[in-house]
Amino acid sequence: MEGDAAGNLIRVTPDADPGDAARLNGVVIPGVPNVHSHAFQFALAGKAERAGPSRADSFWTWRELMYGFLSDLDPDGMEVIATRLYRAMLARGYTSVGEFHYVHHDVDGHPYADPAETSRRLLRAAETAGIGITLLPVYYEDGGFGGVPAGPRQSRFLHDPDGFARLLQTLAPDFVSRPDRRLGIAPHSLRAVRPDRLTAILATLNALDPTAPVHLHIAEQPREVADCLDWCGKRPVELLFDTTTVDSRWCLVHATHLSEQERQAIAGSGAVAGLCLTTEANLGDGLFPAEPYLADGGAIGIGSDSHVCVDPAEELRWLENGQRLITGRRTVLADEPGSSVGTGLLQRVCRGGAAALGREIGAISAGSRADFVVLADQFEDTVDTPATLVDRWIFAPAGIRVVDTIVGGQSRLMN
Ligand SMILES: [Zn+2]
Repeated sequence: MEGDAAGNLIRVTPDADPGDAARLNGVVIPGVPNVHSHAFQFALAGKAERAGPSRADSFWTWRELMYGFLSDLDPDGMEVIATRLYRAMLARGYTSVGEFHYVHHDVDGHPYADPAETSRRLLRAAETAGIGITLLPVYYEDGGFGGVPAGPRQSRFLHDPDGFARLLQTLAPDFVSRPDRRLGIAPHSLRAVRPDRLTAILATLNALDPTAPVHLHIAEQPREVADCLDWCGKRPVELLFDTTTVDSRWCLVHATHLSEQERQAIAGSGAVAGLCLTTEANLGDGLFPAEPYLADGGAIGIGSDSHVCVDPAEELRWLENGQRLITGRRTVLADEPGSSVGTGLLQRVCRGGAAALGREIGAISAGSRADFVVLADQFEDTVDTPATLVDRWIFAPAGIRVVDTIVGGQSRLMN
């Protein structure tokens, strides 16, 4: 591999004479894009595992705990948490992150003197750690479908379309000539953003960058689907596809509860389904219908979301094993007879993750960022094929280690 000073790969030659090139000791795979992160939630991970008084714990009771944590989190704290998180991601093989960022204002809900204060803290955390970032400022306005007013505990998240436009315009210069960054947006969900507001903020984004990524929480919980049906007679994915054009710049996060028609619509649109397997398990969300979705040609990416797990191998293990548990079969998501399940899934989430994050990443080829991960067996000089080592990393990881993570051509594990 040869790269340029800006951190891009300019030539990849299989079986080349190594000459005086630096040698990487292990199997080199593309750095994995992490399509969905709420960085501050890393500080809560593992601390919400005690049963509540009624034993009726759910996504919704967890959300109240999360809101409580935000009652005194300041920008310094956000930056410290995010820096630690991004270093943890690099240690496990993520080389880029989609930061779905919704805590914009101070604890009383007032904008900071710099309306982009917390966004800039996240950019700085990514730079300190050395990870690529797609920043996705969240538009959040309502507390429920149909314009239900947001509650006081949501006051740190809220914008109107004009304020959100100012935020994007303030941030845009921070992304100029930065191949390690991309700016997109994240309308939070259809419960927090009415269809006409979605149209307005998409127009704002398109004026800045008509190909920028758009991420949205779509159908995480059955109650969310029921509330949407109650309000408008449509399910969330139906409503989204009826009111806007969904294409390959979109990432639909937690596309968990889908009708067959909705599943086919997403698969046919080119949008990426942003799967957060370990968080979806932790919150009791449900299992994504991966087998029929992939059979229909759907694109996928993975994200660590609430960061109860920060490990791409474990997300991929849950993805395949979840399908095994519901189908009673093995190798459910393999591409074809004889193919490696792990390698096939890794390639899918690298390709889908690159699209979702809107950056030239996820491949070891000329023109891509020089982002990759080196895997090795810590107990022996491996004689595995690369595909077998990737399968072991995902399905039987004892002994398989990330021994180096390289982003933009530079080793990042010692940062
Ligand atoms: Zn999320």
